[in-house]
Amino acid sequence: MIIVPEKEIAGLMTRADAYRAVEQVFASMSKGSAYNFPVIREAIGHADALYGFKSGFDRDGLALGLKSGGYWPGNEAKGLTNHQSTVFLFDADTGKCRAIVGGNLLTALRTAAASAVSINHLARTDARVLGMIGAGHQSLFQLRAAVEQRAFERIIGWNYHPEMLARLASVAAELDLPFEAVNLDRLGAEADVIISITSAHAPSLLDAHVRPGTHIACMGTDTKGKQELEAAIFGRATVFTDEIAQSVTIGEAQHAVAAGIVAADKITPLGAVINGTHPGRTSADEITIFDGTGVGLQDLAVASAVVDLAVAKGVATIVDF
Ligand code: NAD
Repeated sequence: MIIVPEKEIAGLMTRADAYRAVEQVFASMSKGSAYNFPVIREAIGHADALYGFKSGFDRDGLALGLKSGGYWPGNEAKGLTNHQSTVFLFDADTGKCRAIVGGNLLTALRTAAASAVSINHLARTDARVLGMIGAGHQSLFQLRAAVEQRAFERIIGWNYHPEMLARLASVAAELDLPFEAVNLDRLGAEADVIISITSAHAPSLLDAHVRPGTHIACMGTDTKGKQELEAAIFGRATVFTDEIAQSVTIGEAQHAVAAGIVAADKITPLGAVINGTHPGRTSADEITIFDGTGVGLQDLAVASAVVDLAVAKGVATIVDF
C-alpha cells in the first residue's frame, strides 16, 4: 500500500495536473463510465464536527475509493485546518487498499480546478475582468487557477468580511494583476467571470447585479441550506454542474429548483460540454452558471494522479498491508 502524506502533495501536484484530472473525470461522468456513490455527511455530536464520506468509481481511470473527512470548527485554535480530509484508494480488480493520500491541499486544488475547467469551457473568450466573491481559504486557490484560463487584465473582489480581501489582493499582486475591492453593484457590472466561494446561507449576488454574458462559477454551496446567488439568476442562465443529483439537493441550484425556476432536466453536466455533446455557451450575451458542488470522483482523480507522481518521483512510502 502506498502512502502519500499531506506534506508531500504541494511538491507533487501542479495546477495543470489537477486541471487535467478533473476535466477527464467530468468527461467520464458525463459518458456514464464514472459515477459517485451517495454522500454521507453527519453531525457527529462531538467537537461540533461535521464528518462524512464522498466516494465513487471511475471505470475509465480505474479509480475506486473515498474521501473521508469533514469540518472541525475548533481546529484553527489548535493550529490545524478546519477542513480535514484523507483519500483512500482501492484496487478496482481486488478491492485491496492501494493508497492513503492526504486530502487537504488536494481538496483545494480539485475545487479550483473544477471552476477553472468551467471557465475554460464556458466563459467568453474575451473575458478580461475576474470578479471574486469570497476571500477565505479556498478563494486564493480559485484565483490562481482561474487567471490561467483567460487573459484577465484585472481582478475585483467583494467579501462579507471586507478585512479578508487583503489576502486576495496579495495573491493578485503576486500574479501581477491589479486588484480592487468593490461593492456588489460594481462587481456584477464589471466582471466577465464571477467566482463565488463563500459559506453563506443567504444570497450575496442578486439577479439585478448580473449582466448578460457573465460566467458564474458558484463553488461555495455544498450543503443543504447554503446559498450564494439569488435563485432568480437561474431563470435567465444556462446552468451546468459537476453532478445533477448533487446540484439539485446540496448545490446552489437547490433553491432555484425548489422555487420552480429551473427544472433538474434543464441542468447539464459540464462533462457534456467537455465531450462535445453539448455546445456550452452559444452566444456572447448568454449567462452561464457552473454549480460546482464537489464530487468524490474529483478527489479520487487528483489522488490517483498524485499517487502516480509520488511513485515516479520516489517520494511515496510503500508499506505491506
Ligand atoms: P473559509 O471559512 O476560509 O471562508 C469562508 C468565506 O465565506 C469567507 O470569504 C467569508 O467572509 C465568507 N462568509 C462567511 N459568512 C458569510 C455570509 N454570511 N455571507 C457571505 N459570505 C460569508 O471557507 P473556505 O474553505 O474558503 O470554503 C468556502 C466555502 O466553499 C465553504 O462553504 C465550503 O464548504 C465550500 N467548499 C466547496 C467545495 C466544492 O467542491 N464545491 C470544496 C471546498 C469547500
